[in-house]
Amino acid sequence: MADPRGFLNVDKVEDRARPAADRVRDWDDVYIDHDPLQLRIEVAGQARRCMDCGIPFCHSGTAGCPLGNLIPEWNDLVRRDRWDAASERLHATNNFPEFTGKICPAPCESACVLSISEKTTGGSVTIKRIEKTIAETAWRDGGVEPKIPAVRSGRSVGVVGSGPAGLAAAQQLTRAGHDVTVYERDDRLGGLLRYGIPEYKLQKSDIDRRLAQMRAEGTEFQTGCEVGVDLSVSELRDRHDAVVLAVGALDARDNPVPGRELTGVHLAMEHLVPANRECEGDGPTTVSAHGKNVVIIGGGDTGADCLGTAHRQGARSVTQLDYNPELPANRDDGVSPWPTWPLVMRTSSSHAEGGERRYQVAVQRFRGDSSGHVTHLVLAEVEVRRDDTGKRSIVPVADEFEIPCDMALFAIGFTGVEHSALLTDLGVELDRRHTVPCGDDWGTAADGVFVCGDAHRGASLVVWAIAEGRAAARGVDVFLMGASDLPAPVHPD
Ligand code: FAD
Repeated sequence: MADPRGFLNVDKVEDRARPAADRVRDWDDVYIDHDPLQLRIEVAGQARRCMDCGIPFCHSGTAGCPLGNLIPEWNDLVRRDRWDAASERLHATNNFPEFTGKICPAPCESACVLSISEKTTGGSVTIKRIEKTIAETAWRDGGVEPKIPAVRSGRSVGVVGSGPAGLAAAQQLTRAGHDVTVYERDDRLGGLLRYGIPEYKLQKSDIDRRLAQMRAEGTEFQTGCEVGVDLSVSELRDRHDAVVLAVGALDARDNPVPGRELTGVHLAMEHLVPANRECEGDGPTTVSAHGKNVVIIGGGDTGADCLGTAHRQGARSVTQLDYNPELPANRDDGVSPWPTWPLVMRTSSSHAEGGERRYQVAVQRFRGDSSGHVTHLVLAEVEVRRDDTGKRSIVPVADEFEIPCDMALFAIGFTGVEHSALLTDLGVELDRRHTVPCGDDWGTAADGVFVCGDAHRGASLVVWAIAEGRAAARGVDVFLMGASDLPAPVHPD
C-alpha cells in the first residue's frame, strides 16, 4: 500500500544536471550518471511520495500520460525495491520508456495531484525520473530482453518511417506475430530521435540498443529507402498485406523576409541534423556556430536544441527570440509575426547554459555584407493590441533596431507532412492541417494503409508518437486478423 502521507515526509529531489560550464564542453548526457545503488535508494524514496490517488490523473489520457502508463503501480513497486516487476509494468504500456524518461515534457507530472500546490505539497512526484531509473536499471541488469512471438500469422506489414511512431507500431506488430519491415529514407534509423534531438538530451546508443532488441524479435529494417522513390508504391503494396505511414510532419515552416536568401540564414534542422551526424562520427558539420553571433528565431523545443547545440559548438553569442502561438502565421500587415510575445516560454536545460532571450520583437529583415553573408538582423519592438471587438493587431511601438547576426536559425515549427510521391501514389490526401486523416481504426482513405505519429497528429511529442504507434498497430492487427489483443491507448480525434 502506498503511504498517503509520504510526500509530507520526503522532499522532492529532481535529477541533478552537470554544471552548465562543464556540460557545454561535450555532448554527453546533461544529467549526472549516479552510482546505481545510491540512485535506486534515492529514487525509491521519491516513489514514496506517490499517494496512489483514488483517481490517478497522471495516467489519464486527457491530462496525463497518453500511453496510460500505470504510474502509481510502478511507484509502489519501486518503493518496495521490486525493480524487475516495476520494469514489467512500465513496459506493459510503453515500448521505449528510456526515451520518454529522458525527453518527455512529462504531462504526467503536471497532472499529478501533488502539483496542485507546490508550497503545500512540495511539488509533483518526480515521475519522469522514476521512469528513467526503472528503464535504465532494467537495461543495466539485463532485464530488457527480446520478446519473440510464439505464433506467426503469415501476414506482412510495411512500416514507412522509423521515428518513435513507426518503431512502436513495428514492435507491437512483430510481437503480434506479423512479418514487419520498416523502411527509412535516412541512412540511420530513429527519425527525429536520431537526427533532430541532440546527443546531450538523448544518447543515440539508447536508440541502437532498442533496435538490437527489435531485430532480435524479428523486425526487419531497410535504410536509405525512400518509399515512393527508391521503392515504388505498387511494389510496397505487393510485398505487404498492410502499410503503416509513420512519415512524421517534417515540412519546416520558413519566413521569407527580405534577406532570407543570405548565406548564414538557415532552417533549424539544417543546423541540428549535421550536428547530430558529427556526433555519429560522420565528420565536422558545415553549419557550425563556432565563433558566430547566432540568433535563433523561435522558442520551442527545436529552438532550445539549437541553443544547446550552438553553445557546444562554441558560439560567440546566442540570442533566442520567442514566439507567440496565438498569432496567425500569415499576417498580411507586412510585419513578420516571428517572434513576438512571451506567452509560451518553454525552458529546457539549454537555457541554463547561457544566451539571451528576447520577447515582443518582430523580425523585419536580414542585412548582409558584399559577399552575401548575413551580418545583422533588423527587429522591431511590437505590442499586441485588441480593439473593442477583440480583434488583434500587432503594432510597432519603437524604432527598428538591429543586432549582430552571422548565423540565423529559424525554429518556428513545422507546417505538416511533406508532399511526396508516396502519398500521391497511395491516393492519400492531406487535410487542411497538412496531416493524414484517418478513421477510428487509424485506417486512411487507402485500403489497408494506416497512419500514426506526427504524420497524423502534426508536430507533437515522442510520447504521443509512441501512443499512436501502439494504437495504430491494433488497427492493423484487427484489419489482418479480424480481432486483436493489442492495446489502443489513444483514439484518433
Ligand atoms: P519522425 O520522428 O519525424 O520520423 C519520421 C521518419 O519517417 C523520418 O525518419 C523520415 O526520414 C521518415 N520518412 C519520411 N518519409 C519517408 C519515405 N517516403 N520513405 C521512408 N522514410 C520516410 N518531443 C519530445 O517529446 N521531447 C523532446 O525533447 C523533443 N525535442 C524535439 C526536438 C526537435 C529538434 C524536433 C524537431 C522535435 C522534437 N520533439 C520532441 C518532437 C518529436 O521528436 C516528434 O514528435 C516525434 O519524433 C514524432 O515521431 P514520428 O515517428 O511521428 O516522426
